[in-house]
Order: sequence, then structure tokens, then C-alpha cells
Amino acid sequence: MTAPTNTWAATPPEPALGPVGVPPAGAGRPGHPAAGAGAGAGAAGPIDEATWRRVVSAIEAADEVALACHVSPDGDALGSMLALGLALRAAGRRVVASFGDRRFAVPRLLRFLPGQDLLVEPARFPAAPGLMLTFDAATVERLGLLAESARNARELVVVDHHASNGADTGFGTLRLVDPSAAATTVLTEELITRLGLPVTEEIAACLYTGLVTDTGSFRYATTPAVHAMAGRLVATGLPADEISRELWESSPFGYLKVLAAALGRAVLEPAAAQAHGLVWTYVSREDRAAFALPYEEVEGVIDVVRRADEADVAVVLKEDDDGAWQVSARSKGAIDVGRACTALGGGGHARAAGFTSHLPPAETVAMLRPLLTP
Ligand code: AMP
Ligand code: MN
Ligand code: MN
Repeated sequence: MTAPTNTWAATPPEPALGPVGVPPAGAGRPGHPAAGAGAGAGAAGPIDEATWRRVVSAIEAADEVALACHVSPDGDALGSMLALGLALRAAGRRVVASFGDRRFAVPRLLRFLPGQDLLVEPARFPAAPGLMLTFDAATVERLGLLAESARNARELVVVDHHASNGADTGFGTLRLVDPSAAATTVLTEELITRLGLPVTEEIAACLYTGLVTDTGSFRYATTPAVHAMAGRLVATGLPADEISRELWESSPFGYLKVLAAALGRAVLEPAAAQAHGLVWTYVSREDRAAFALPYEEVEGVIDVVRRADEADVAVVLKEDDDGAWQVSARSKGAIDVGRACTALGGGGHARAAGFTSHLPPAETVAMLRPLLTP
């Protein structure tokens, strides 16, 4: 396809930062699958007005705004960060953005996102920012190499929607954390609007990417608010069809082979599962090496494995380039995988969570299995 960035070449207007804006109509939080039934139904989310106002003032007062998102960024993390970065830069503000991966590279699937010229390598990120915002990271550790900058920041604004990101994490001086938000981009859209900044087509593309990523293309969060936000964003003219194709329907040929190997060794426990079955498999470094497949390309394996009707929980263990196993867990609802993964040092949502293991796959699953209780 032609790079969608070509269609976003127009220079956005450069308004001055306005007063505190009015939240967009229908800005009430859509229910994330992590949220209990009815969560987010009210207009007021868990973020109070005073906090929103303090964040807006902090951004308006800052000389430079430093933005960071979680390591191995997904569409929600990178989309949120670049959206705010683009909005601030268009308003004439100094912005720096990064993520703390040792191998600093934007995943292939997200290279179409506009605003990547805002990115700097983690080594060039301010060591002690006056104002820093983090996106989609539930803990300071999820910032990887940028965790130290966050600890040193004078003001640290945490923009996130993970249920595991409770006030008890002690993370952030100002917290825009709402577990009922379907994606961090939902909160980011509200922040941009409250700053009085326009959502251009480029910014909308970043926000939309986060929204479709975290809702699984509107499968896991289907509220009117989610669709209303999508409607607002698509109305800017962004190529929603191209974004979906980029995200969901494009892989190197080697992915088919690695997927086949992973599916071929998938295990269903118990073998004839009725209640609370678990389906799991793994992708090793060797599997990927045979097809020169980068780690990020196997993120989608879990979306195939989770289809098994017999299983309430699906787990895919992916060996990264350092030999650590990154575990992805998904639940159909009866079991809170976020709780189980948090207990093993990871985090996430009730229906989508993960953790890192340094044990072989079967041993890791044996450790996880007893925690998978309703
Ligand atoms: P993934 O399976 O990588 O798509 O991640 C699903 C969810 O679990 C995301 O919301 C992540 O933020 C969270 N998650 C995944 N791995 C970890 C980890 N090692 N530590 C904390 N949270 C994680
Ligand atoms: Mn994320
Ligand atoms: Mn997210």
C-alpha cells in the first residue's frame, strides 16, 4: 500500500494553547473488557475535574514536554504518545518522545503512524524532565530504560487505563488513570480536547490506531462511546481501511510458518475441557530465527490460539531476543488473567494480561495454572 503518511502531509494549523476546553460530547468512559459490567456508565470517570485542570496547567506552563510510553510499544502506547506530541508541536511547543527499549525501533506494524520524527533514542531523553507524561504503562518498570527519567521528573503525569495501575503503585504525581477506558487513546483524546487543541487527521490516525488495537477492532469493547469516538476520528478523513489492513492483515511469509509450528504444538488442558479449559503454546527464538522473523511479528499468535472454544484462557509464551519468555494471557471473562499475571510480576487487564518468565514454557504454565481460578 502507499504509506498513509503521504495523505497526512498537510501542515496542521498552529493555534495557541487555549484555556481548559470542554470535553467532547459523549466523553464518558467506554467500558473496557477489563471493567466490570456497567463500569464507565456515568459521565464522571474516576479522574476528577481538579486533576484534569492540574494536568492542563502543568502542560501549559512547561518549557518542554517529555513523553514516554511502555517498552515494546503497541498501537495504544505509541498512538497515544504521538497523538499528544503532534498536538503540542502544532501548538508550537517543545516536545520530545521516546520509549525505553534497548533495541530502539518502531515495530514494523506501526511504522505507518505519523509523528515519528518526534521520537528520540532513550539515551537522548531528558534524564530529569521538568514535565513528563507516560502512556499505557501500568508501572514505572514498564518504561524500561526511561524508568529513571520518570523517577527524576519534577511532575510526572501518568495516562493509563490498566486496572493494575492502582493509586498504590505510587506511580505519578498526577494520574489520569481510568480502568474503564477502552484504550489510553480515549484519555489522550480528552486531554487534547481539554487543552483546546484540534484533532487533525494525523492526530486522529494515531488515536484511532490505539482504539482499534486495544478493542481488537471493536470486538472486545463495543460501547456507544467507543463507536462515537471512532466516528469523530474517521470524520477527519483518516484512511481507516488502510490502517486496519496494516494492523490486522499484513505479515511476512515466515509468520505463516511460525504460526503453523506454534499451532501444531498447542495443548488443551484438560484434554477434553468443558469448564475452565486452558489452551497454550509457545514460539521460541529458534522458531523465529528459521525465518528471520522479528519478535514483534509473533504478537498476533495469541489472537489465533484464543479462538479455541474449549478454553476459557489462552496463553502464548514468546521467547524474546534476550531469551526471556514474554507471556500473553487472554480470558473469555470467567477468569481474571490480570490478577494471575500481576501475581507473577506482570500486569494487564482482566481479559488481557502478561508477564515475563525466565523458566521454560511448560514450567511457566505449571506455575500459572493454579492461579487461573474464577
Ligand atoms: P500482550 O499480551 O503483550 O498484548 O499484553 C496484554 C496486556 O498485558 C497489556 O495490557 C500489557 O500492558 C500487559 N502486559 C504484558 N506483558 C506484561 C509484563 N511483562 N508486565 C506487565 N504487564 C504486561
Ligand atoms: Mn499497551
Ligand atoms: Mn492500552
